[in-house]
Order: sequence, then C-alpha cells, then structure tokens
Amino acid sequence: MAQEDLFKKLVSHCKEYGFVFPSSEIYDGLAAVYDYGQNGVELKNNIKKYWWDSMVLLHENIVGLDSSIFMHPTIWKASGHIDAFNDPLIDNKDSKKRYRADVLVEDQIAKYDDKINKEVAKAAKKFGDAFDEKKFRATNPRILEHISKRDALHECYKKAMNDNDLNELRQIIIDEGIVCPISGTKNWTDVRQFNLMFSTEMGSTSEGSMKVYLRPETAQGIFVNFLNVQKTGRMKIPFGIAQIGKAFRNEIVARQFIFRMREFEQMEMQFFVRPGTEMEWFKKWKENRMRWHQNLGFGADCYRFHDHEKLAHYANAATDIEYLMPFGFKEVEGIHSRTDFDLSQHEKFSGKSIKYFDAELNKSYTPYDIETSIGVDRMFLSVICAAYHEEILENGETRVVMKFPPALAPVKLAVLPLVKKDGLPEKACEIIDDLKFHFHCQYEEKDSIGKRYRRQDAIGTPYCVTVDHDTLKDNTVTLRDRDTMKQERVAIDKLNDIIAERVSITSLLKKL
Ligand code: ATP
Repeated sequence: MAQEDLFKKLVSHCKEYGFVFPSSEIYDGLAAVYDYGQNGVELKNNIKKYWWDSMVLLHENIVGLDSSIFMHPTIWKASGHIDAFNDPLIDNKDSKKRYRADVLVEDQIAKYDDKINKEVAKAAKKFGDAFDEKKFRATNPRILEHISKRDALHECYKKAMNDNDLNELRQIIIDEGIVCPISGTKNWTDVRQFNLMFSTEMGSTSEGSMKVYLRPETAQGIFVNFLNVQKTGRMKIPFGIAQIGKAFRNEIVARQFIFRMREFEQMEMQFFVRPGTEMEWFKKWKENRMRWHQNLGFGADCYRFHDHEKLAHYANAATDIEYLMPFGFKEVEGIHSRTDFDLSQHEKFSGKSIKYFDAELNKSYTPYDIETSIGVDRMFLSVICAAYHEEILENGETRVVMKFPPALAPVKLAVLPLVKKDGLPEKACEIIDDLKFHFHCQYEEKDSIGKRYRRQDAIGTPYCVTVDHDTLKDNTVTLRDRDTMKQERVAIDKLNDIIAERVSITSLLKKL
C-alpha cells in the first residue's frame, strides 16, 4: 500500500474508532487542534504512565513536578523565547498560502537526495550482483552533479540560517526555482520572522493587565523550580525533574495530523549534573531513551538518531530520536545538552542565586543540564502507525487489527456473552465486576461474536472472553488472543493471573 494511502487510512481509523477527533468538529474544526476520544485518551494515558514510571519509579534520583502553564513573562525573556523562538515564514502571493522558508529549502535538499537514491536504485537493478554502489556514487557524472548541487545548497542554507539572513534565505528559494505546490508560481513575499508563542492578557482591567504567554515548552517550569525541588527533596547532583504537561506553539504550517499541533503535550525530564560531566550523561540518556522506545517491540529499524549540526543557542550537543512514520523518518524526541544556560539566565534575570552546593567537592556551582523531551502526541502517532495492520483471513475477509503492546492497549479485555439471554449477560458482568479493579474491561453484547471480535481488533484489545452456556455449568470461558486469534478454554478464576501480568505497564518496565 502506498504510504500516503496508509496515512489516510490511519487518520480515518483514528476517527472511526474513537482515538482522535478534529477539535470543534461541528463548527468545521480548528486548524491543528485535536481531541482524543474514548480510546485515544486511554492509549495516551498509558503512554504517559509508561514514560512517567520509567523516569520516576525506576530512578530514585528523579522526581516529578507539575508546574503551571502561565508563568511570569520575564521567564520567556530569560529563556530567549521572546527574542528567538521564531520561524522564518514566506507567503506565496498567488495562492495566499503560507510556508516555513526553512522547510521549503530543506524539502529541496531532500529532493536532491531522492534523485541520488533513485539513480543508485536504477543502476543496482541494471547491474545486479556486479553492482559496486560505492564506486558508482563516487564516479557517476549525474550523481556527482546532484551531490555538488545539494552540497552547495546545503552550505548556503546553513550560512543563511546561522547568520539569520532572511534576504539570503529568500534568494535561495528564488535561485533554486522553488514553486508553491498550490499555485505553481515563484511569486514569493519577503521572508519574515514569526514568533511561535501565543500570548494573552492576565488581570481584570485592560490598564492593569499583563501580557502573559502560553508556555511553548514545559522545561522552563522545571528550571524556575530547580531550587524548590532540590532543597525540599534534599536532592543531590546528579538528579532529575520530570514533568508532563501541555505546551502551545502557533505553528506556521500545521500538517500531518497530530504530528504538528498548536496545542500539544510534552514529557520532559531535566537531568542536572556536574559541569564537565555533561557529555557522559548526554550519551547515557541517548542510550536510555532509545532503549525505552525499542522496548515497545516495533523493531529497531523504525528508529534512528539524528544528530544536530546547527545547535540551539543554549546547547552544546543535541540529537533527535526519529521514528519511521508513513511520511518518512521524523522527530519524536529531542535530547539536548543545555549546559548551564537556563539556570544562569534565570539567575541573571531574577537576581536570585540559583547555585548548588556540592558537599563532595566543597564548592558551589550552576549545574549543567541534560534534557530529554518527547511529544506525547508524536509518540501516540508512532504507536498508531506501528500498530496498524491489515490482514487477510482464511475466509478471504480483511481484518484491521491494532497490534498495540498489551500494556498500552486502551482496553485490555472484552467480555462477550454468546447470546443476550439465558443468564449469559449477567455472568459476563460478574466477570467484569471482578476484573475491573485490575485492568480496563469492556462489555459487548451487540452483533455476532465475529463482528464483536473485529471491533475489538480495531481498537487493539489484546484479549476477548466469550461466555457461553458451558460457562454456567463449569465456570470456564473461551479466551481469544488478538494477534494469533487462537482460542483456549480457561477457568474464570485463572483469568486475572493469565491477563494481568501481560497487560501491566510493570511488565514493560521490567524489560527495560
Ligand atoms: P520540530 O523541529 O518538529 O518543530 P522541535 O525540535 O521544535 O520540533 P522540541 O522543541 O525539541 O521540538 O520539542 C520536543 C518535542 O515536542 C518534539 O520532539 C516533539 O515530539 C514535540 N513537539 C514539538 N512541537 C510540536 C508540535 N507542534 N506538535 C506536536 N508535538 C510537538
């Protein structure tokens, strides 16, 4: 299936089965804002729990925090967001469509890479086993021409971005002949910087009100609480503070469903270390976070690191963990070595000392910080992409099954009475009443058993139990496994033992 078609199917599956709805849909929606439905919220909560427990439960030196969305506006001056949290935007005068100028150029660079890869694939097919790819890449004139154009473009782009040269960025777009995909023209406006922070007014009267921002990242809430947590928790370096919360960015171009939203959720952990040890910790957290992703069992090939060439003003090392979405490898998580930038800035702007006294070294210093920052929604999207399967059954029918890791599945067990009479529904409810304290169960009595199985497959329920007439006699039920579709007869009082361990977050955490 073409990847584009797959993605369209995923989006409609998410809507049809109560995972994700467009926000304000009855008013025709609100761009890049989404709501999570009855199954989506369960999946999202399970993802958050997997992350939270892996940080806070498994590390005695990591504690949690829940800071507010509104913060003192000077925080955003200190962090650099008021001055530098910008994206370069450009409009096409004919289509009136708005684009991120840097993305237009990056897409153009990717086109050269595509051309190179296509030439290589064509030659590999032509020459078969005798094909020497390295030699071909180093000598083929067409490839060399593409590489040289690509590299030249990359150099100019890097320089324009580093120098913040918006005129040059526009010139690159013109010189490369980049056209608007809607109008097909090169009728571009100037490039302007656009600040991504949403602002609002706080206070009851307009004279007395203060401009405040909706936080564009959760991290600053951690930095400004550094001393509160360190002192009240008597935390010793190295230690971390973890937080899950909403963040808001007025993204210029919102696309790809929940990949780029204007309101989204982040799971961030700031790990404070001794100056000079940050690279060692950066490496450790890179490995730790990749392990966390791969532990879900979607296959190591779906992930890669993307080390940053251009570092943000606060970082001395940065990498992204990318996941292979249907639209290519995309960032799901960022890991940054943020130096002492944030704590020092808040010290400067607040006038309060934010130092740590290291008793072992007998000296005070501003700790360095390693950040791991992952978007809940992007993680959600990667899980949905990995889980979606279409399978042809023996009878020729197709089943859509969401193969979620059981610990993340929204519903763990569906209990289905074979018929709606003869005391079977009551027996089914009895089973749920017993198991509902341990995991999320669902009761379903409408339609044939086959149809009910299909519906549970579509929301990724790992187990279904069918209650039939024999159940009333011998207290056994049929337990069906989502992935193998195998059915076995088990005693009702064994259900908890069989299912609970396999569907618990603990079982995932133990594999880490
Ligand atoms: P991008 O380059 O894609 O804009 P970023 O590098 O600005 O992302 P960070 O500031 O590092 O992102 O934020 C950390 C994480 O927050 C990202 O890895 C991503 O998962 C998530 N995130 C950032 N912006 C958005 C958004 N607009 N919608 C959904 N998730 C987002």
